[in-house]
Amino acid sequence: MKKILAIDVGGTKLIYALINEKGEFLTGVNRIPTPKNIEELKSLFKKIILENEQEIDMTAFATAGAVNITNTAVKSSTPNLPVGYNNIDFSQLSIKPVYVENDANAAAWAEYKLGAAKGDDNTITVTLGTGVGGGIIIEGKLLRGKSGRAGEVGSMKINGRGRICTCGRKDCWESYASGTGLKKTAYETALYDEIFNESIYKNKKPEEITTYDIIDGVNFNDEYSKKVFEIWKKDLITGLINLVDIFDTESIIISGGLGKFINASEAQEVINSEIVTGEVKVRLANMGNYAGMIGAALLAYEKFS
Ligand SMILES: [Zn+2]
Repeated sequence: MKKILAIDVGGTKLIYALINEKGEFLTGVNRIPTPKNIEELKSLFKKIILENEQEIDMTAFATAGAVNITNTAVKSSTPNLPVGYNNIDFSQLSIKPVYVENDANAAAWAEYKLGAAKGDDNTITVTLGTGVGGGIIIEGKLLRGKSGRAGEVGSMKINGRGRICTCGRKDCWESYASGTGLKKTAYETALYDEIFNESIYKNKKPEEITTYDIIDGVNFNDEYSKKVFEIWKKDLITGLINLVDIFDTESIIISGGLGKFINASEAQEVINSEIVTGEVKVRLANMGNYAGMIGAALLAYEKFS
């Protein structure tokens, strides 16, 4: 049996555990707030690795940000991680092999190997959080592209309403389909649609309405919240249709904090009524919050054994 130290690096917290080559946990999951300073973060990586280095066969990182083609460094800017993160050579952190993968790619791999997409050799996992992440698996392989950055589905441009994305560009899909996008849609609808005057949130400032207000509002049958949610869902489905038509997949897996509010069978029906490729299954992810760690561990095992 192999022992893989799996570390998932997020903007607010870092989690790690030992996992075997089947994706089974050998230890509990440890949680540590992600240091805001690059030297502290590097020291933390080294400390965690040192504590486990004797007994492990390799280390696997899942991280925010796009990863290079050799899986040794993070290439794109990651605003919620410390400055200098892009300069870390992960392969130098341990005397044992080290592998680093984008967290959305790793989560997609976990869904493909063990989760909601098991058995589907062509599948895409879309992660709906603050942004929109994605991992594309084609013919049983994780699609990496020429630089390792393939699958950044949130950056797909759609014919939107001129919204400025956090990246500075206009009309990235994630500026609509993410949690941030839902909040923006709530804001715009509050400002420009009279339906807001009848809403349970009419006394709130439009900029203070949160994604969870909208989710609660839908449950309370608030017409304004329902309209905002419908607009958001339509924007989400636009991108999903594009992805299925381009990649001709067997399934689309919806993951991330907002994913659980999607009705998968309803989304599947809408998508299948529009796509030009064959029928697609839409499923909610079922690998949970540790999908990144598990996927990275399985990918590392494939690479190093
Ligand atoms: Zn963007």
